[in-house]
Amino acid sequence: MSAGAIVIVGAGQAGGWAAATLRGRGYRGRIVLLGDEPHAPYERPPLSKAVLGGQAAPDSTELFSRERLAELDITFRPGVAATRLWPERHQVETSEGAVLDYDKLILCTGGRPIVPALPGVDGPAVHVLRTRDDALRLRTRLGPGRRVVIAGGGWIGLEVAATARQAGCATTVLEQAPRLCARSVPPGVSAHLAALHSAQGVTLRFDTGLRAVQARPDGSCVAELADGGHLEADAVVLGVGMQANDTLARAAGIACDRGVLVDEYCRTSAPDVLAAGDVAVAASAAGPLRLESWQNAQDQGAAAACAALDAGQPYVPSGAVWSEQYDAMVQIAGFPARARREVLRPQADARALLSVALDEGDRVVGAVAVNAARELRPLRQWIAQGARVDPGRLARADAPLSSARIG
Ligand SMILES: Cc1cc2nc3c(=O)[nH]c(=O)nc-3n(C[C@H](O)[C@H](O)[C@H](O)COP(=O)(O)OP(=O)(O)OC[C@H]3O[C@@H](n4cnc5c(N)ncnc54)[C@H](O)[C@@H]3O)c2cc1C
Repeated sequence: MSAGAIVIVGAGQAGGWAAATLRGRGYRGRIVLLGDEPHAPYERPPLSKAVLGGQAAPDSTELFSRERLAELDITFRPGVAATRLWPERHQVETSEGAVLDYDKLILCTGGRPIVPALPGVDGPAVHVLRTRDDALRLRTRLGPGRRVVIAGGGWIGLEVAATARQAGCATTVLEQAPRLCARSVPPGVSAHLAALHSAQGVTLRFDTGLRAVQARPDGSCVAELADGGHLEADAVVLGVGMQANDTLARAAGIACDRGVLVDEYCRTSAPDVLAAGDVAVAASAAGPLRLESWQNAQDQGAAAACAALDAGQPYVPSGAVWSEQYDAMVQIAGFPARARREVLRPQADARALLSVALDEGDRVVGAVAVNAARELRPLRQWIAQGARVDPGRLARADAPLSSARIG
């Protein structure tokens, strides 16, 4: 392609990697990276862990510094949003009123936390966690004896719960479903996570959610629950999910369905517009798939860059996600929520867990390991190969893992 300009909208994990990959692949044209946050591209996983806990400085999460972007001759525009897109004219407008021409445009706009329309959620004690600034704001609310109520027992909610508990807070998690992380893992994993948090002193309340928040003059609040209960809190954290930032694409007439629809080359319905990361919804055999994961944002960002240079390979999302809570390292491979059957493989260490997700033909479709990285390794291959297993052998501690494979 001609060395014109490639514009990347969104300077997060996917956008940063897309920009760096373009240069890495020898693209010599102009690269413009627009980011509406004031920061250089940074990684979000530490925000709910070491940054929130105060063990890591916010700057330590930086993915590419401004200096590195300048070395790569990437025109980085912090604090500048893309406000309008005309795919047929190959132009994009910025919040500064400039109109940029592009040959290709990559949408890496990520997502934002869902804020349910409940009375009082705009109050000062209510928090979300997506950005560095969110983490710093919430951090000021944590400390010994502080009371933290978290709405949502998913990954963000549980990581915040672990960090708050380790900071000495009295911590309660509200979960509308009867179990934790129900959207992404089978019941055995949920039960393990529940036991982990309960043992650390977190109060878990299932089948209930937040109904309203009443602000108090001293900056604290009262969380009203759907089951009629009330909890006094110094902070309420909304961890009820994320919605894709697809407004720009939608307004430009690009096909969206809870995110920007892309094919296996990260192409959207508009010519020369690609998308990657949390905003992208890929087609998959099991239906539309939007992943909220560090690994996917990096890999798909790089894949979109290659596709923009017409050197792309079909992108196959791996589903790899991890989470850290206390001393538990949770690793997810494949798509365990698609399990027709979950098999728990006994582990010598009571803090460890290996959950293997099987489809109706006993093929491995996913796995979740808690402090069991070694046994997860072969399972990653089995997932990629669609291996069949004998569930009985898989569940036997005295049978080597390798002996469970039958096809
Ligand atoms: C607190 C937290 C902890 C996490 N922990 C883990 C973890 O342990 N493991 C894991 O696998 N994943 C984790 N994730 C998920 C992972 O961080 C995300 O999947 C990843 O950041 C997605 O990258 P992205 O580039 O697609 O989106 P983002 O990182 O959200 O970046 C998108 C950027 O685009 C900007 N933007 C949006 N619209 C515009 C516009 N119109 N113009 C210009 N800029 C725009 C946004 O402000 C943002 O800066 C975590 C996420 C959070 C929030």
